[in-house]
Amino acid sequence: MDAATADRNWARESKRLGHAVIFLGPPGAGKGTQAQRVAERYRLPHLSTGDMLRENIRLGTEIGRKAKPLMEHGELVPDHLVLQMVEERIAEPDCKDGFVFDGFPRTLAQADDLERICRRIHFGSTVVLHMVVQPELLLRRLTGRRICKANGHIYNIYDRPPKQQGVCDVDGSALLHRPDDTEGVIGERLATYEKQTRPLVEYYQSRKQLSAVDAMAGADDVTASINRILNGAKEAR
Ligand code: AMP
Repeated sequence: MDAATADRNWARESKRLGHAVIFLGPPGAGKGTQAQRVAERYRLPHLSTGDMLRENIRLGTEIGRKAKPLMEHGELVPDHLVLQMVEERIAEPDCKDGFVFDGFPRTLAQADDLERICRRIHFGSTVVLHMVVQPELLLRRLTGRRICKANGHIYNIYDRPPKQQGVCDVDGSALLHRPDDTEGVIGERLATYEKQTRPLVEYYQSRKQLSAVDAMAGADDVTASINRILNGAKEAR
């Protein structure tokens, strides 16, 4: 079988993943990179609440106006605003076979609400990938992160630089440095994670939905670990 046929077969097969996949972990753990890869492999929508909020800011919506100052200070946006966005998004037809959350849920209230929504729409099961990283690595990953303006491809100037400085390898667009990827705000974001999001580890552990991923390894090794977990989850359905 040639590679294109194998890919097509994989895509058909993967339609049946039928899970909500959640990436849980601190800023800089590699959630965005890995969520993009899972979404691509399983042909599922990649739902980054951070991206949705940045888009709302760009468009000048009411949610965007409320979110902007909080995001600039590394604080969380209120649950009801995030939940409103998420609920509308997962009601769209492309989410019926599953979806990949990156940066959601971030509080116990959000997790409870997601559970309620999934029950209401009779959505299968949830796989939570807990990206485990030593804190020392996070600062380097975040200060070095650059994101392509057109399609969100992610680079790191220290570990995964683009071929040409400031330019995306894939689509040639400019690479941006997020304003909250600076040292002052990163400290706040990490503190916010510890206080408001870390409790979700226990929450999902107690529901037997949590799988730990060693996210210290290189991106391709991390992807391989995640694929093993998700293939197992698919077979278990
Ligand atoms: P991220 O792109 O995931 O790093 O998110 C950037 C910022 O958006 C965060 O620091 C928060 O201010 C806000 N944000 C993203 N997702 C959520 C969420 N699920 N709940 C509350 N705030 C969020």
